Amino acid sequence: MSLLITGSIGLDSVKTQLEEHHDLLGGSASYAAIAASFFTPVNLVGIVGEDFPKKYLELYRKHGVNLDGLEIVAGKTFRWSGEYEWNMNNRRTLSIALNVFEKFNPTLPAQYRNAPFVFLANISPQLQMHVLSQVSKPKFVVADTMDLWINIAKDALLELLKKIDCLILNESEARELLKETSLIKAGRALLKLGPKYVCIKKGEHGCLLFGKDLFFSAPAYPLEDIHDPTGAGDCFAGAFTGYLAKAGKVDADTLRKAVIYGSVIASFNVEAFSLKRLQTLTPADIASRYEFFRQMSHFELH
Ligand code: AMP
Repeated sequence: MSLLITGSIGLDSVKTQLEEHHDLLGGSASYAAIAASFFTPVNLVGIVGEDFPKKYLELYRKHGVNLDGLEIVAGKTFRWSGEYEWNMNNRRTLSIALNVFEKFNPTLPAQYRNAPFVFLANISPQLQMHVLSQVSKPKFVVADTMDLWINIAKDALLELLKKIDCLILNESEARELLKETSLIKAGRALLKLGPKYVCIKKGEHGCLLFGKDLFFSAPAYPLEDIHDPTGAGDCFAGAFTGYLAKAGKVDADTLRKAVIYGSVIASFNVEAFSLKRLQTLTPADIASRYEFFRQMSHFELH
């Protein structure tokens, strides 16, 4: 089944302690769309300026991403730059320029409006709600968020939580939103705010999935070299939702598999800057790392 994805599309400049790259394809929706494209057709909703490189449009097309919902307008594309510390976990935003995003008020193409699966990647909760309100009867809606919106748009985020089926956020965001130190309490408390499922990402320590009758804990892939962690969360969420859309159903077994596929794609993505690693990724690579996850967490009956 097809998947509608909206979020930011941007040009990133990323600095680690070893390397620095500029004008990379970035944005939450870019990462999510390419990650999801390994599982299901993607309809993208977003905005870029006239300066957006044609090679990046080609990259989406190569991955079968439908661009009918992508507006290309006069002005400059959204830009973000960030720098990682040695541990590759702590990141400092150096600059952010919303540019054409400031005027973004999308009207969905008619063929997008009956999307069964929707992923609202990281943008303001007001924009996420605006897109969601144009989808007639979605079967399953997943949303991501970030600390910025918890700080400046908490009421809008709480409204959005009532309309979605699954919230994905990282551990510091879960603690911040709930003012709760225990992640287990935070996950369960988030379920009371609307979503049927909550996925808390813990970076190199994997992630936790909470549902009414479901608790699943997945490890992270034991990578030795991380080159650029940017977009790992977006890839996780894109592949997670993409796999659910491919399966066309949402039950406990499918959700567990979706969490592992999300972890697999995210682990590949951090092996290179921007979306470079995903461009050469094959179904065989995905299957073999999925199998590694299975063996790594398997144990016998008591
Ligand atoms: P992640 O590493 O998963 O947090 O995602 C990083 C991506 O989010 C980068 O490609 C940025 O372009 C994008 N990004 C950074 N800040 C924002 C923001 N305020 N709203 C939307 N996207 C953002």
